[in-house]
Amino acid sequence: MGRYPVNLPYVGIASFAKLPIVEDLAAVDADIAILGVPWDAGVGYRPGARFGPRGIREYSTRFAFGERGMQPNGYWDIELGARLLAGARLVDCGDVDALYLDVDYTFDGMSEAVRTLAGRGVLVVALGGDHSVTFPVVRGLEAVGPFDVIHLDAHLDYNDAVHGVRLANGSPIKRVSELPFIGHIAQLGLRGIRAREDAFADSVARGNTIVTMAQFQARGVDAILDALPLRHGRCYVSIDIDALDPAIAPGTGSPEFDGFSHALMRETLRGIAARWPVVAFDLVEVSPPLDPGGLTQSLAAQLILEFAGAVHAAGRDRRG
Ligand code: MN
Ligand code: MN
Repeated sequence: MGRYPVNLPYVGIASFAKLPIVEDLAAVDADIAILGVPWDAGVGYRPGARFGPRGIREYSTRFAFGERGMQPNGYWDIELGARLLAGARLVDCGDVDALYLDVDYTFDGMSEAVRTLAGRGVLVVALGGDHSVTFPVVRGLEAVGPFDVIHLDAHLDYNDAVHGVRLANGSPIKRVSELPFIGHIAQLGLRGIRAREDAFADSVARGNTIVTMAQFQARGVDAILDALPLRHGRCYVSIDIDALDPAIAPGTGSPEFDGFSHALMRETLRGIAARWPVVAFDLVEVSPPLDPGGLTQSLAAQLILEFAGAVHAAGRDRRG
């Protein structure tokens, strides 16, 4: 009998979905790797996303089905009538080291960790952290480029700078757009009354696709995705949890009303996975201190498993 013979969700070490922990990134031999990027110094309003990786892991233990790790049987989706992630090798690689006020040290560590994992052919799933982490994560994927970016968010995150600050959570998609291996950028789910007109104009000028939440709901997932002019046919997906409606995802720093339902987000992620190889993805801006009921953390864990399941089911060569 092992140390945790029953292994209920509240027992043992809370790795993501109770997956095996592999902290030596150069030794990872897996299909999918969970990587925490606990950083929230890029937040201009309500912080707390530095606790996101730990919080999402805590709630993800509910999806371990009482087994030590999910392999080899994955999970059964009653609505799809299918078993997902069956046979997939998943590991939890712990967190990138973070040092408050030292953005160079922390962001360089993020890029290096992603570079190492991507070099081993692993699908990296980055757990934020505020949205500023998307830039160092994508920067670490140069060797698997070029690729396009699909950005799901209530906000543009396309500010060139805020009072000279260029790496905060309002700027990651602008920073990503400047990387030489990034093709088309699609920004989906935008809404609210705080968007900057100059950032919008800048994104439009680059040729990015911008779809507001109202447009997304009016046209539907298939029409929106079918119209995306991806250049490289392979994409990175960045999921800001505030793309979802604050009624179901309240635990985030900058909530905006009238967002994605879980069903619509799931359909969108499945639609992306069915159309294009996904080189890596992140889920950011979950702030456990703002999430007393745990709903947002639970939703984040489920979305990660659903999207990873869809990407794995699509079974395409991520490197083209
Ligand atoms: Mn964002
Ligand atoms: Mn946002």
